[in-house]
Amino acid sequence: MTTKSIDKQYVLNTYNRFDLELTQGKGSVIKDENGKEYIDLTSGIGVTAFGIADDKWVEAVTSQLNTLQHVSNLYYTSPCALLAKAICEKTKMSKVFFSNSGAEANECAIKVARKYAQDKGYDRYNILTLNNSFHGRTLATLSATGQDHYHELFNPLPSGFVHADANDTDAVINAIKEHNVCAVLLECVQGEGGVIKLDTDFVQAVHAYCNDNDILFMVDEVQTGNGRTGELYAYMNYGVQPDVFTTAKGLGGGLPIGACVVGEKAQNSLGFGDHGSTYGGNPVACAGALSVFERLTDELLSSVKAKSEYIFSELSACAGVESVSGMGLMIGIKTKKPVGDIIKECMNNGVLCLSAKDKLRLLPALNIDFDLLKKAVDVIKSACV
Ligand SMILES: *Cc1c(COP(=O)(O)O)cnc(C)c1O
Repeated sequence: MTTKSIDKQYVLNTYNRFDLELTQGKGSVIKDENGKEYIDLTSGIGVTAFGIADDKWVEAVTSQLNTLQHVSNLYYTSPCALLAKAICEKTKMSKVFFSNSGAEANECAIKVARKYAQDKGYDRYNILTLNNSFHGRTLATLSATGQDHYHELFNPLPSGFVHADANDTDAVINAIKEHNVCAVLLECVQGEGGVIKLDTDFVQAVHAYCNDNDILFMVDEVQTGNGRTGELYAYMNYGVQPDVFTTAKGLGGGLPIGACVVGEKAQNSLGFGDHGSTYGGNPVACAGALSVFERLTDELLSSVKAKSEYIFSELSACAGVESVSGMGLMIGIKTKKPVGDIIKECMNNGVLCLSAKDKLRLLPALNIDFDLLKKAVDVIKSACV
């Protein structure tokens, strides 16, 4: 039996996989079961920030594996402490809770917000999120996700979430006033929603309103974080400082990790026993993440911006392209041809791409070689026309 047939028989049918088995890779080149090579513009949905089998990451992970792969959170371990310190120092935040995924990081943020309001004696518990957002697949984060089609299948979903339109400041402020809102949670660039960047005025106005009214301003940086948008975190493009941000995907470089990063205001909301995770802060995941995080230097971030400008200018000028959206190396492309056809043609021609709603989506490794990127963009351009 082939991998494909075994998987089809024994793995729950939750993924509509491409007809492609991937076996190995290096950097931004990945091979299928027949040895055919592809330029990877997906990085495992923004996870492998420095590509496949990146030497420094492998070294950090394997040396930790050979030392201490896991102990419980009843004990201190250095990778967890050092990663938390590194993140806080670069973001002016105060404390970190480590989880294993983006959804779990958001679960923690939701708990921080509810507890913060309760400690203050406020009669507030709702979290406001935006329409067309995506915050995860657990029941609470599904509730938070502002897309109806995710809601209908699993009722009853946890209550305590309200939604308002992105880029409509009045709608958000009215909803906050009407619904006992304790926190706003938003993605600066809606990823799964179609790579849509929020307006600066909107983000700043919501941030200011939250600040003035002691409502937590929380940013979901699960996809946008860790250099993806050309800044360390996407909120840094907006000149705002969140009270809480969550991240995951690219932070781990390929091992499961999530982080809920809390600023001064809410740093003591959760105390002993209020939250926990068996694997959260695992030494191997944290050692790998630290090797990723330490390499998100200004130099790397400016190379992300340069590659972004290249992709934007090449594809905006392409006849088969209607528009290009996003920020940094998180790019959505509205094409004239159906996106499914373009992804297939790119795959046939050795380039792996993603979709988001009706757009072609690119999330290449941050350190993708410029020559490889140029080759891949040429393949995309010819697939679009
Ligand atoms: C992927 C994603 C999540 C969920 O992360 P998981 O690790 O799959 O749980 C949450 N929020 C955003 C913005 C995401 O892109």
